[in-house]
Amino acid sequence: MKLSLNTTVPSVRIRNLTHLPINPSRSFVLYWMTAFRRTQSNFALQRAVEIAQQIQKPLVILEALRCNYRWASHRFHRFVLEGMVDNATNTQRSNALYVAYVEPESQNGSGLIEHFSSHAAAVVSDDFPCFFHPAMYERFASRLMCSVELVDSNTILPMRAMDRTFSVAHSYRRAMQKEIAQGLPQFPEANPLNNLVVPKLKSLPPSLLQHWPLWVGEDASQKISNLSLDALPIDKEVAPTEEKGGPIQGALVTNRFFTSRLSNYSESRNEPEQAGSSWLSPYLHFGHVSPHTLFERLVDACEWSPAKLGKPNGKMTGFWNMNQNAEAFLDQLITWREIGFNMCSREKNYDRFESLPDWAQKTLEQHELDERPNVYSLEEFDQAKTHDPLWNAAQIQLRREGRIHNYLRMLWGKKILHWTASPRQALKIMIELNNKYALDGRDPNSYSGIFWVLGRYDRAWGPERPIFGKIRYMTSESTQSKFHVKQYIKQYS
Ligand SMILES: Cc1cc2nc3c(=O)[nH]c(=O)nc-3n(C[C@H](O)[C@H](O)[C@H](O)COP(=O)(O)OP(=O)(O)OC[C@H]3O[C@@H](n4cnc5c(N)ncnc54)[C@H](O)[C@@H]3O)c2cc1C
Repeated sequence: MKLSLNTTVPSVRIRNLTHLPINPSRSFVLYWMTAFRRTQSNFALQRAVEIAQQIQKPLVILEALRCNYRWASHRFHRFVLEGMVDNATNTQRSNALYVAYVEPESQNGSGLIEHFSSHAAAVVSDDFPCFFHPAMYERFASRLMCSVELVDSNTILPMRAMDRTFSVAHSYRRAMQKEIAQGLPQFPEANPLNNLVVPKLKSLPPSLLQHWPLWVGEDASQKISNLSLDALPIDKEVAPTEEKGGPIQGALVTNRFFTSRLSNYSESRNEPEQAGSSWLSPYLHFGHVSPHTLFERLVDACEWSPAKLGKPNGKMTGFWNMNQNAEAFLDQLITWREIGFNMCSREKNYDRFESLPDWAQKTLEQHELDERPNVYSLEEFDQAKTHDPLWNAAQIQLRREGRIHNYLRMLWGKKILHWTASPRQALKIMIELNNKYALDGRDPNSYSGIFWVLGRYDRAWGPERPIFGKIRYMTSESTQSKFHVKQYIKQYS
């Protein structure tokens, strides 16, 4: 069956991984949920539903959680598991069969997807462009003996809509606006499972159930809720935060933003003590909230329609013709968030020093041997043992709560560059600490933010300084004028 037949998903969002035909003689269609961990506004699930519907086969949704990925910890497992309970419950109301797999020990999951796919007419999965996902897709491309499609539901503008990467945000913004001016990209269906009119699979093939501890259908949510994290070989020092995970909590956080924070967003998002930003990044990262849903909420809040679109101007305001707060939020959600997906989907080396623009590499290398006022090890940074109480407070917040406000996050990164032996070492430390502790880490945004510290998406600044060269400089002292640092340091000491 050809890819383009009867699809409601834009073809630019679909990648055919194995180039094998759909095989309707097999038992079911498999949606292997790995990144868009939600049942609503999800192009990948929509694609799996339409294949199942067209060949009239049951749909199985497999949501798996491995234990041996880098930085696996109680914090991230808890967040994902809370989402799995929501997804198991939401699937109950449909004709799809939900299957949860939580890998109990390292390597237990070997062969699971191969085995599932040997029963599947087709496999659909999520096309996430960073962390372990791209290497995993490459591995499976030669191992899975059926049609496998990867679907992009990451972004509002499809992440492969552009044929190049961008060195600064304003050139991405301009190109994005040009694309959108030709027509707002298609949105996913809000509830794709409502379209599923196929027989419901009662159970899985016994060979699957014998080999792996799979939690199926009605039982799944109870089993997931009862799971003890202590039994798993994951980092328990990185403990769960008070932030609950999952699409249900993601919807509550979304509501909070639209009812009480959006109206002052453009002013208060940069003020750390005001809690003025959305705090949606962990839910966006784990796919518990869809960017399309956020855009639709903005449309409702502003009574907006595409007829209001202005001419592309490359600026943060005046293109969407929404109000000032909505435009400020859209600039984060579409320009700053999506430029990272554009980068990771096109540049294999997105996490390497060499992916920095030439001017940034050159200036950092020219200043590599400059004397540092302080040099700390990874452990000292990790334990918040620097001389600077503000930096330590930010690190303590990251360890304790899994987040730092954006403004402090910039300072946090700039000081790591300032206080390490080399820019390459600073990069390593930022990646390690951000991805180990941040709920929203291991994301294209993580690499946008960390590499921004080193000059990506920025320009050269003067005067040229020791260590930083022409890279933008920030100090704890300048931050003190921004907000009540004393109170913050007291809270996180
Ligand atoms: C050193 C450093 C590391 C960072 N690491 C991460 C990370 O691991 N994960 C992460 O999601 N963001 C990261 N950022 C970007 C930014 O700090 C967070 O996206 C933002 O603080 C999330 O808070 P919010 O959801 O309240 O944002 P809001 O202001 O409410 O913005 C809405 C959404 O837009 C996106 N967004 C906002 N600011 C940025 C930005 N500067 N760059 C890219 N996308 C943005 C996020 O998806 C965010 O949830 C990092 C920034 C720096 C300087």
